Formats: sequence, C-alpha cells, structure tokens
Amino acid sequence: MTFVLHPALHCPIDAAPLMTDELSLVCQHGHTFDVARQGYVNLLGPKDKRSKDPGDSKEMVSARVAFLNADFYQPLADACVDITLGYCSAVADGRITLMDAGCGDGYYLNHVQENLSNDLGNRTSLVGFDISKWAVQQCARRCDGTWFVGSNRHIPMADGSVDLLFDMFGFPDYSSFRRVLAPRGRLVRVTPGDRHLIQLREVIYPNIKLRSERAPYPETFKVVSKQHITYVMSLGTEDLKNLLLMTPHMFRSTPERRQQALDHDPLTLTVDVIFEELETTTVY
Ligand SMILES: [Zn+2]
Repeated sequence: MTFVLHPALHCPIDAAPLMTDELSLVCQHGHTFDVARQGYVNLLGPKDKRSKDPGDSKEMVSARVAFLNADFYQPLADACVDITLGYCSAVADGRITLMDAGCGDGYYLNHVQENLSNDLGNRTSLVGFDISKWAVQQCARRCDGTWFVGSNRHIPMADGSVDLLFDMFGFPDYSSFRRVLAPRGRLVRVTPGDRHLIQLREVIYPNIKLRSERAPYPETFKVVSKQHITYVMSLGTEDLKNLLLMTPHMFRSTPERRQQALDHDPLTLTVDVIFEELETTTVY
C-alpha cells in the first residue's frame, strides 16, 4: 500500500518536519529515512533499539495476524469504532488524526477505518507505529496510512498533533502521549480485566493472581469514561497455538503446561477487557 506522509511526522533526531524526496523522507538538516517498498518507514532511533530485531518476531506477528483475522477480538475492534464515532461527533469538522501506539499488525485501526462513513473516513488520518518492523509491514499491507517503526518513548510526531490515541494492551509512556495529544485529544487505554483468558491462565500457571496490580494514572490524565467488555469465545488447537504465540503467556509457562492447554480442544475462554478514555488535565 502507499505510505502517507502525515504533516505532523517529524525527524526522530531533531524534530524538524519531514518532506518527501523520491523514495525517502528527509528533514532540512539532511537526515534521510528510506520508505520501504511495502509502504512504511523506520524512524526508530538507535537509543530505542535494545536488540537488533526489537519487538515481536516475524513468527509472533504471523500468529497475531492469523488469530485477529479470525475475528475473535472483533467486539474489541467494534468498541474502538464506537469510541472513534463518539469522539468525532463531539468534535466539529476538520481533520482527525487517529494513532495506535504499538499498533501490532494494524487490525484495530484498519477495522475503525473500514467502519467510518465516507465523509469521516476522508478526513481521518491513520497513524500507527510499533517497535517490531514485522508488525509494521503487516499494517502497510492492510491499508494506506502513516506506518512507521518507532517506540512510545520518542514518538516522532509534532506536539498536539493527535486527536485520538489508542494504547491497546501496550506499555504506556504518559509524558509522550501527553505531548502528542491535541488539547481536546483523548487517550484510549485498553487493558485486560481480572478474568481475561482466565481459563487459559488457570491451565498454564501453577498459581494465578486474580487482582492485577494496576499502576495509577499520573495527574496529567483523568479518566472520563470506563467500560468493561466481556464475552466468551471457543478456540480450537490452531487458534490456541496462535493466541499463545502472540501473547507473553507463551514465554512464562512451561512446555508441559502449554501442551496441557492445547489438549483442550476446543477451549472456551472468557474475554474481559477494560476500555478507559482519558483526557489530559492542566497539571504540569
Ligand atoms: Zn533531522
């Protein structure tokens, strides 16, 4: 698909605006970033890379694509659509920038885009980034947008340029989020509830903690709405393998316990996810 240069995208080295120069993006100080033929750009600074191939591996991303494309999480994607429509109806006309920080394979943003009216779709810009280049490649394959490899710590977007910022099961960096959010912008945090995938966790962990310790939000954000989305899904062996591969569960359990989980076919799992919408406050 085509890489879209969002006007607020900036150079990760000096924050100067980026311009298109043939198949590259370039800033006024001559820093150049190649646009990959798949339709994304790598804007990850050397300081943000902890390994040569950071983030989800190619195999994990393939598992994620297979799992999400089977629409087990479609109710979550629908909730993203509802939140976007609610936000857009509250904000008058003009362009709207939707960003998914840690966008994975782009499933959620793509679902939102597909469910907007033509008018709204035409004035919406999609921006998504992930630290895994394999994930970002998948985004660029799905739909046109501003897709780049990057991290929450240094988001290469101008201050106040994002209207709706999704953080789906990610590792938030609130000072970055606050910086890029527009004054009337909103952060949407999506986190697992206590009973999320509980039946799977019961099989693969010897002892499970029911209450997840959730760090409080900084004073710079306040929750303006909160909803729980709960339903059950039934997974066969292949779906379970994909789910185990795409989540951190895979790495914290033993091979024996993972096999025990796979022996349940099908396994009925509870999805329990919390959506919180947050506004920025005037506290600095
Ligand atoms: Zn530069």
